[in-house]
Amino acid sequence: MNIIRVAIDGPSGAGKSTLARAAAGKLGYLYVDTGAIYRTVGCYVRARGLDPGDGEAVTAALPQVSIEMTHGDDGLQHMLLNGEDVTQAIRLPEISRYASAVSAHPGVRAFLLEMQRKLARERSVIMDGRDIGTVVLPDAEVKIFLTASPEARARRRCLELEQRGTPQPYETVLREIQERDWNDTHRDTAPLRQAEDAVLLDTTELDFQASEAALLRLIRERIQA
Ligand code: C5P
Repeated sequence: MNIIRVAIDGPSGAGKSTLARAAAGKLGYLYVDTGAIYRTVGCYVRARGLDPGDGEAVTAALPQVSIEMTHGDDGLQHMLLNGEDVTQAIRLPEISRYASAVSAHPGVRAFLLEMQRKLARERSVIMDGRDIGTVVLPDAEVKIFLTASPEARARRRCLELEQRGTPQPYETVLREIQERDWNDTHRDTAPLRQAEDAVLLDTTELDFQASEAALLRLIRERIQA
C-alpha cells in the first residue's frame, strides 16, 4: 500500500487539529498534531523555570528532554514528557506562549524534525503544524494551507474556552491570536507561510461540517481515492 502524506499548515485557531483529526479518522490515516510536540517542549521549559526566549538555555536543556507520542485506546494523541503524561497540561493557555517562544529557536526545530519525519515514514498520515508542507514533509502528496480570519478564529476559541469552563474575554483572545500569528510568521527559522504548491482552504465563512467536507474533497481529489 502506498504511503500518503497530507500536510496541513496554518495559523493557530484555524481549526486544523479538529478538522485534520476528523479527516484522518475517515481516511484511516494517523493524525499527528505537531503543535503538541512544541507544547511539550514548552511544558518542560516552564517546569525547569527557564526563560523560553533564551535560545541558548533552551537548546542546552534539550538533551534532557525525552518526548514520546502514543495513541491511546481513545484514539487520541497522548504526549509523554520524560515518561509523564502531559496531554492535559500542554493545553494550559500559558503553555501556548511557551510553545510559540521555544518554537522560534533553530535548535528546538532541528531537535524535533526527525521525530516528525519518522512518523510519516511508517504509515499514511495527516500532519498539522506551521512548516509541515515547507520544511518537514516538502514532498508530501497533499499540501493544504488552512486559515480563517483572526476574528473568526478568536470567536471559535472563545466558544471552546467557554465550553471548557474557562471563559476569556474576546479582546484578550483576539490579541493573543494576533501575537502568535506575528511570532509564527516573523521568526527566522521555518516561519509560517503557505507552500507554493499548497492549496488554500479558508474556513472563515464555513461551519465545521462544510469545512470537513471541503477538506476531504481536496484530499480525495489529490489522491484520487
Ligand atoms: O498548533 P498549536 O497552537 O498547538 O502550536 C503551538 C505553537 O507551536 C504555535 O504557536 C507555533 O509557534 C508552534 N508550532 C510550530 N511548528 C509546528 C507546530 C507548532 O512552530 N509545526
